[in-house]
Amino acid sequence: MKVKFYGVRGSIPVCGEEFQRYGGNTTCISIYREAANRFVIFDAGTGIRKLGKELVSMGMDQKVLNILFSHFHWDHIQGFPFFAPAYNKNQQIGILVMGKERKYNNLKEIFSKPMQMEYFPVRLDEMGAQFIFLNLGDDTFYYGAKVTGVPQYHLFPGGSYGLRLEDESRVLVICTDLEHIDGIDPNIVTFANNADVLIHDGQYTEEEYKKYKGWGHSTCGQAVEVAIRAKVKKLVITHHDPDHDDTFLDTMEKGCKEAFPNCVFAREGMEFEV
Ligand SMILES: [Zn+2]
Repeated sequence: MKVKFYGVRGSIPVCGEEFQRYGGNTTCISIYREAANRFVIFDAGTGIRKLGKELVSMGMDQKVLNILFSHFHWDHIQGFPFFAPAYNKNQQIGILVMGKERKYNNLKEIFSKPMQMEYFPVRLDEMGAQFIFLNLGDDTFYYGAKVTGVPQYHLFPGGSYGLRLEDESRVLVICTDLEHIDGIDPNIVTFANNADVLIHDGQYTEEEYKKYKGWGHSTCGQAVEVAIRAKVKKLVITHHDPDHDDTFLDTMEKGCKEAFPNCVFAREGMEFEV
C-alpha cells in the first residue's frame, strides 16, 4: 500500500510561513493499493482538493472512487465541494462510513446541506458524479483487502471511527479524532495490534491536554503509548493543532522519537509504503 498525506492539520486549515514544513490543510489521506490498482481516500478535509487535481491530471480511470469518513466534523468534509473528480459525470463516488451501530437518518443530507444555496454555489446533485452512500458495518472486504472499523471516543462513544486495512499481510491502522478517556483505551490498542503503520491523533502536549480534556483528541504521548502497547512497527502522528507552528511540532516530534524511535509527525506531501 502506498500512503500519502494531503492534509495533516486538525480543526481548521492554517496558512503562513510558520506552517510551511508540516502544512496547513485539514485531514485527507490517500491510500493506493498496488495489488488491486485502486485508490481509497480517508476523509475529505481541505487537503482533498489537491488530491483531486492530481487524480484528474494523472488520468485516473477508477470507475468507483471511495472516500471513507472517520466522521463528519468540518475539518474532515470541508474540501469535498472542491474535489475535482466529483464534477465528472462518468465518475461514481462512494461515500462510506463504518460501524453497524452508527445510525444516520440520511447520510446524503450530511453532504447536501452544507452545499445548499446559502453556503455554496453548486448543489450536491449538480456536481455531476453519481454518489453512492453506504455504511459498511463493522468489517468488510474491499477488493481483497480486509477492512475493519473501531468506535472511538470523540465527544461521545462512537463519535468517530478508526480504520484497519489488511492487504497482502501488510496492516495499516488510522485512528484520528479520538480521546483516551481514563487512560489508554484498550480497544484501540487491540485494534492497532501489530500494525506495520499506525497513524494516530496527537493534537496536544500533555500540558495542553489538561485544558482541552473532553475536546475529543489525544496527546502525542498517548499516541506513543498506544504504539508501544500495540507493538506497531511505525507510528505517524497527525491532526496537528492549528496553534502549533513548525518549530513547536519539531519539538513535539523530537520528544516522541525519544520514547518511540520509529515515530514521525505527518507532513503534507509525505508518502510512504506500508
Ligand atoms: Zn478533526
